[in-house]
Amino acid sequence: MADAVRVRFAPSPTGHLHIGGARTALFNYLFARHNNGSFILRIEDTDRTRSTEEYIGSILEGMRWLNLDWDEGPYRQTDRFDIYQRYAQNLLKEGKAYPCYCSPEELEQRRQEALAQGKSPKYDGRCRNLNSPPPDRKPAIRFMMPQEGEIIVDDLIHGKVVFDNAQLDDLIIMRSDGTPTYNFTVVVDDVDMNITHVIRGDDHLNNTPKQIHIYQSLGYELPSFGHLPMILGSDKARLSKRHGATSVIAYRDMGYLSEALVNYLVRLGWSYGDQEVFTIDELIRYFSFEHIGKSAAVFNPEKLLWLNSQYIMKSTPGELVDLVMPFLIKEPIINEGQISDRVWLSKAISTLQERSRTLVELAQSLTYYIADEIEYNVKAKEKFLNEKYLANLTEVKASLETVDTFVAAEIEKVFTSASQKLETKLGNIAQPVRVAVTGKTESPGIFEVLEILGKEKTLNRLARAIHVITMKS
Ligand code: GLU
Repeated sequence: MADAVRVRFAPSPTGHLHIGGARTALFNYLFARHNNGSFILRIEDTDRTRSTEEYIGSILEGMRWLNLDWDEGPYRQTDRFDIYQRYAQNLLKEGKAYPCYCSPEELEQRRQEALAQGKSPKYDGRCRNLNSPPPDRKPAIRFMMPQEGEIIVDDLIHGKVVFDNAQLDDLIIMRSDGTPTYNFTVVVDDVDMNITHVIRGDDHLNNTPKQIHIYQSLGYELPSFGHLPMILGSDKARLSKRHGATSVIAYRDMGYLSEALVNYLVRLGWSYGDQEVFTIDELIRYFSFEHIGKSAAVFNPEKLLWLNSQYIMKSTPGELVDLVMPFLIKEPIINEGQISDRVWLSKAISTLQERSRTLVELAQSLTYYIADEIEYNVKAKEKFLNEKYLANLTEVKASLETVDTFVAAEIEKVFTSASQKLETKLGNIAQPVRVAVTGKTESPGIFEVLEILGKEKTLNRLARAIHVITMKS
């Protein structure tokens, strides 16, 4: 039997979980689940100056929100310094690595000189065969890279990519202060954690030949590599803050459903025929590397918004009650604990879910059902809360007062007979009533809106609108 699949997501906590990182995490997750394998979370926090606890917390929060549950970890590289030290010492002993006494200032000076001469600033290897090391310096440890020949990265997405060994540096694996460096820790961890597939962004493709040499020196079999295409903004530049929100948590706070974001992320580079909307079970079933393209994917916020509206539309009102509640509290449209009637709120939501693209929009639209008093849209007020409609509003209010069973069908009868009596179109009654009760010229069907509002609120709002008109004239 082939080895069980083990993959990892290995973020550096130097920022929030962003769209690109989340997509990498998702592809690893789907690959693991598709193969009944394990998904490991590893925090690459060796850069102590740029890593923070806050970012670690925020990455975990983003992963949890997206339901990318991991099977092992989070491991932290800062807890594993002994392990890197051990591997580095072994390489030293075997002559596959060597102490380097060059100071950062010397290295920088040589780098500048090489650049000035138009050469690539590669370490010149002067400490490779040092007979008498300077006594007063603590050395860094450099990996002895082969200097000749080629190395081939056989990538699951890009195919065979050839690199010239002469281009590769004798890279530092341990700094003189004893801290390990990225290319080394990644290999040690992937070996130590039995990772079978390394799936990451193709900004790491150039690191892979160096890492392969380290694997070989350590005497370990290579994992498979898959480098995911970049994500670009609409201007074809690498996706960044300039293109709008890039952090996953920002999308949560803007009222996106995590399933919609997952569905959107998976389509950044992966496709399955022309299907656009997938359940997570379908994604797990269909996911494979064959369907990942080589070329960069373009982030399209409008499409994400469209997908979100699809997910809101197909959620049940009951599910939306839970999802919208934090936004109602935050806006604040309600106080915590204010709405105990979930059935009523579900009904209100069911009238709005087809017209809300985000949970924030849904929460805002719910305002006119929930609030004690509404605000009128200025134009709507001008156009419909005036003398011309006073008689219509007065008539409909008087008739609604007599309705005992305040349901849409009964309310509709009132409107129909008012329109006959006043000899006016139904719209000339419905529109001012709509503005009176919602403050806007657009809303779900007015009879339903009134039923959900209930008799008391409806009559109060009509009374207020009539008052507004009579005060104006
Ligand atoms: N820590 C690296 C990053 O955040 C990822 C390393 C890897 O996946 O090999 O870019």
